[in-house]
Amino acid sequence: AATAAKFVYDFHEGNKDLKDLLGGKGANLAEMTNLGLPVPPGFTITTEACKVYLADGAEPPALRDEVSAHLDALERRMGKRLGQADDPLLVSVRSGAKFSMPGMMDTVLNIGLSDACLPGLAAQAGDERFAWDSYRRLIQMFGNTVQGIDGELFENAIEAARSAKGVATDVELAAADLEALVGTFKDIVARETGRPFPQDPREQLDLAVRAVFDSWNGERAKLYRRQERIAGDLGTAVNICSMVFGNLGPDSGTGVAFTRDPASGQQGVYGDYLQNAQGEDVVAGIRNTVPLAKLQDLDRASYDELLQIMETLETHYRDLCDIEFTIERGKLWMLQTRVGKRTAAAAFRIAVQLVDQGLITEAEALQRVSGAQLAQLMFPRFDNGHKGDLLARGIAASPGAAVGKAVFDSYTAVKWSRSGEQVILIRRETNPDDLDGMIAAEGILTSRGGKTSHAAVVARGMGKTCVCGAEELEVDTKRRQLTAPGGEIVDEGDVVSIDGSSGKVYRGRVPVVPSPVVEYFEGRMHAGAEDADELVVAVHRLMSYADRIRRLRVRANADNFDDAARARRFGAQGIGLCRTEHMFLGERRELVERLILADTEEERDAALTELLPLQQRDFVQLFEVMDGLPVTVRLLDPPLHEFLPDITELSVRVALAESRQDHNENDLRLLQAVHRLHEQNPMLGLRGVRLGLVIPGLFTMQVRAIAEAAAQRRAAKGDPRAEIMIPLVGTVQELELVRDEAEAVIAEVEAARGVALKLTLGTMIELPRAALTAGQIAESADFFSFGTNDLTQTVWGFSRDDVEASFFTAYLEKGIFGVSPFETIDKDGVGALVRDAAKAGRATRPDLKLGVCGEHGGDPESVHFFHEVGLDYVSCSPFRIPVARLEAARAAA
Ligand code: ADP
Ligand code: MG
Ligand code: MG
Repeated sequence: AATAAKFVYDFHEGNKDLKDLLGGKGANLAEMTNLGLPVPPGFTITTEACKVYLADGAEPPALRDEVSAHLDALERRMGKRLGQADDPLLVSVRSGAKFSMPGMMDTVLNIGLSDACLPGLAAQAGDERFAWDSYRRLIQMFGNTVQGIDGELFENAIEAARSAKGVATDVELAAADLEALVGTFKDIVARETGRPFPQDPREQLDLAVRAVFDSWNGERAKLYRRQERIAGDLGTAVNICSMVFGNLGPDSGTGVAFTRDPASGQQGVYGDYLQNAQGEDVVAGIRNTVPLAKLQDLDRASYDELLQIMETLETHYRDLCDIEFTIERGKLWMLQTRVGKRTAAAAFRIAVQLVDQGLITEAEALQRVSGAQLAQLMFPRFDNGHKGDLLARGIAASPGAAVGKAVFDSYTAVKWSRSGEQVILIRRETNPDDLDGMIAAEGILTSRGGKTSHAAVVARGMGKTCVCGAEELEVDTKRRQLTAPGGEIVDEGDVVSIDGSSGKVYRGRVPVVPSPVVEYFEGRMHAGAEDADELVVAVHRLMSYADRIRRLRVRANADNFDDAARARRFGAQGIGLCRTEHMFLGERRELVERLILADTEEERDAALTELLPLQQRDFVQLFEVMDGLPVTVRLLDPPLHEFLPDITELSVRVALAESRQDHNENDLRLLQAVHRLHEQNPMLGLRGVRLGLVIPGLFTMQVRAIAEAAAQRRAAKGDPRAEIMIPLVGTVQELELVRDEAEAVIAEVEAARGVALKLTLGTMIELPRAALTAGQIAESADFFSFGTNDLTQTVWGFSRDDVEASFFTAYLEKGIFGVSPFETIDKDGVGALVRDAAKAGRATRPDLKLGVCGEHGGDPESVHFFHEVGLDYVSCSPFRIPVARLEAARAAA
């Protein structure tokens, strides 16, 4: 018989590379077990079992026996059995997908506890209070997460017990109070579910496992997956882990730790510890934690061992790790580790630190950061010199400068942000229910919880500004207001500013300044300076690794002196797209009007002759800033009516003038021209190369301006490298016609100026026909530049301006798009054309230069694609250049 599928792995059977099968938590528990670290024994039910359950609506038949076998082994190893009256084994049931997901069911602790074995647990521990505390936690967590009972019912009951006793925290409740609380909790369960709390330990276990499976398809989990682009069919694993107890008195406790500061990347001891507590207490911010360094005074031996283990883990994983641990009566236990989330700034700093420690290579360091993070670091921040109206100070949990209107619940956050408002979500603490509000908000502010609270962890993951634990602030979500220490009140809708880098909270709008990273790229801040900002140094070093490793070159889309100069400062290796239409605006519009209205050849030539020196001057400037680097100039592309007045406005003007019997000859001619040029689908109308072929002299004027400008630069001992680009070509004949004319003009200028200009001539590939006949087109082109904006429009058959607002949201929601094809290249459709056209073009002409100049040139995922299909360069807007440089290197590393 074929060997049955294996659905359960003991911790010592797995390892960290089995995340697909065991989930992140399970794989890392296995890894720690095999490293010989103190992990409570247990086993993991695989994601495969979950997938079967989700597909069939029932657990795979073999699962029950496999779980029994592993449970049996665990019981033998621990010397106690689940439900054993005099000494019960308790376990936790913990969800754990490949990627950690806040929307999923977390964990149920103390599974196995029942009325029958509670006295046994109390006797073994010599602590009756502990046993009742563990029982009430079980019923609370099980009731809430497995049975779906509103958590507030339990919270309110605890609150009532505390106030009845007149105490502030649950540690002050005695055994008898907790016993009574267990009674209340059981009543809640019976009332809410119609049956008593399950007393059979195995039933508790099985129901909890099933609840973890089900939580994969919970609404919040689905929302999170969409947001983070995690596939919907991965499933989750379930970890069954024998319990260790942090709630056994003052020599016990539980904590979280980071091997480095996840906010700044600094090395040191970071984390929080809570004495006499179990599991979630630390993260939930229920009681005040102490900084991890304090553990040194509380339990020196455990502290030293923990630091030792942290070093082991960091060296082993070669990255920042975050850790969950518990101390049970002086014995340290490791409950979780993973490569920890971090802010963008920390990611850059940690990557270079690890290179310096010899733990990772430069190429690996590039994989530890991303273009998205770099983009985040380039956002402006609050002006240090500002005198904002400081309301309070919290913990700097996730950096950035966020300004918006105060809202106190997720629903309002979503509603207001949909209507275009910027909002700051203010909560006492957040929980997974707040996820959509957090996504909608510019920033998140909480009055409780530390750097490891839900708000902080989720905000860092999303790259969203967050200040947490601003304890001086009184947040009243019912009255929708916040009270600052001086009694000052912020109501819903009032503007607040929060600084995620300093933790400061201000009333009103605080002004922002450029980030030091932008100052560095601008050349106004130097990485080599004595007092250089550490982040700037890290960015500088990673960018230099990137420039060494990448194969793709990066150019800029720029059509004026300022943009071109900035692009060069930001590392552009030329201009990939200079749009000449921008040179036809302003006061030159009148000349263009004259060109369009020209009735005779003389009139037309006159207009062109006036435009020529103006264009030439623009090009001279560009060739000068980009001296020695290629500059691709695209000849006029947009439909001519774009240069004429708006049809409605003009019609009104003419009608008004007529009613006054006041004829304006020019307006009348203009109106005729506007009517003549009006098109139903201008995007598919008279534009691009078609203009050049039907308006005599237009393209030749532009070519002449380019050639003359190049000659002028050469005379000035410059090194101009102009490339002339013809837009919207669909067939090689179009290109040949334009090329013949252009070459004649260039030859004329060369002869007149006595120089060889070495201008090249190529085309955009932005129509499906051009892509499909790329082999022929390459006969007549020195280069191709893929215009992926137009190519996306023409391949999909939709006009970007018309459809993005109308149906893209529906398409994204229905999952037809994972992301807009205008943002990230559609690899299967548009991308396939690019790949094939590149190949066909190079087959005709092996030295054909290939680039891309659509918006995709600055999009990380698309940059990786263009690297893979072998393009020579990407071109993007000046501010995206550093991102493209970094991503091009990440693609090559
Ligand atoms: P999450 O994914 O939300 O972190 P975990 O499964 O890690 O959920 O568990 C939640 C909390 O319970 C954590 O603080 C964890 O350390 C604690 N915990 C989990 N299993 C055990 C156990 N076997 N003994 C003691 N504490 C546990
Ligand atoms: Mg955990
Ligand atoms: Mg185009």
